[in-house]
Amino acid sequence: MSSGSPAISRASQALSIARPNPKTVLIAGGAGFLGSSLCEHYLENSDRVICLDNLSTGRFTNIHHLLPHKNFKLVTHDVTQPYSPPGPIDLIYNMACPASPPKYQIDPIHTFKTNVFGACHLLDLARKKGARILQASTSEVYGDPLVSPQREDYHGNVNIQGPRSCYDEGKRAAETLFHDYHAQFGVEVKIARIFNTYGPRMDPGDGRVVSNFIVQALRGDEITVNGDGSQTRSFCYLDDLIDGLVKLMHSPADLVQPVNIGNPGEFTVLELAKIVLDMTGSSSTLSFRDLPQDDPRQRRPDISTAKTLLGWSPQCDLAGGLSRTIPYFAAELSKINAVTASAGQ
Ligand code: NAD
Ligand code: UDP
Repeated sequence: MSSGSPAISRASQALSIARPNPKTVLIAGGAGFLGSSLCEHYLENSDRVICLDNLSTGRFTNIHHLLPHKNFKLVTHDVTQPYSPPGPIDLIYNMACPASPPKYQIDPIHTFKTNVFGACHLLDLARKKGARILQASTSEVYGDPLVSPQREDYHGNVNIQGPRSCYDEGKRAAETLFHDYHAQFGVEVKIARIFNTYGPRMDPGDGRVVSNFIVQALRGDEITVNGDGSQTRSFCYLDDLIDGLVKLMHSPADLVQPVNIGNPGEFTVLELAKIVLDMTGSSSTLSFRDLPQDDPRQRRPDISTAKTLLGWSPQCDLAGGLSRTIPYFAAELSKINAVTASAGQ
């Protein structure tokens, strides 16, 4: 490709955007698995970080080490309510929403309100402050996709009334709001469609497949495979995902279209179980359960947009990511065991 091609010039433009310091970065959902890494990223860049979180699925331990930092502020707040602090805000990440199906299904109405009211309130804040805002959208906007891999122009196959709808439809509505706040008010928006991401800081009790399988394997418990395990997912390692989100946030202002961020490596759930058993050396056995309603049969991102417009692609394969994630869960379980043992004394 010649250096004058639109693809190359767009990518290099994205990468060369200056990031004058310090900025004030609001990270809604900043105490969560992904949000806490974003908080660290901006603090390391000497920016000021406001972490806005209701600590529902986020953990205090994810951000405890950041509390003494002079540029870090934790605000306990539910994004279903408006939030308008004094002072400038330059960048907003909307990461606030439970992401694990068992967690977001506990209170589906609140999950839906978190997605829709939360998006409205943060977009209003972005408009008021002149801030750029990024939405943590999801591969769930594609529902149970009838095409694979999924490109951003696929409109999806989503059940309006099912156990996953509060999340899927909530995220779809939030994307609509982002689109419309840009079109109507000129708010600078970014939309990342995140595919299944895993890594250190996941809650051992989170309920998603990677954390469940690793914790079960380390404890010697049965590995709970839903259905026959032939459904597929594409798993992205935390560091790759954060790199993609940051590149998208700092991309040129006219990049407002949704961008898939994920690892195209596609695995069946059964393959994942076997890899985890092998890498942990566990003798756990497999236990098959009913497939939950509307559980997507396949998921794999087409990441041509991210490659072309952001110059981004994942660097870490599944084995590499799991080799960094398994020791993290082993350490978490040791802490839990130590607390349980001391409570029993
Ligand atoms: P997480 O559950 O660890 O983090 C979500 C955070 O949002 C938590 O700290 C939680 O306490 C907070 N939160 C939830 N509801 C809130 C509310 N009403 N008000 C304020 N704070 C609230 O999940 P995660 O994996 O870190 O996901 C972060 C974001 O990325 C979510 O929006 C999720 O939908 C999106 N996402 C994640 C993945 C993934 O695989 N991790 C995939 C697709 C999309
Ligand atoms: N899953 C499983 N066992 C578990 C948890 C999940 O087999 O203990 C399956 C789940 O049914 C789905 C896939 O693993 O097919 C991914 O589930 P997860 O909850 O991680 O995310 P999803 O992509 O479904 O939102």
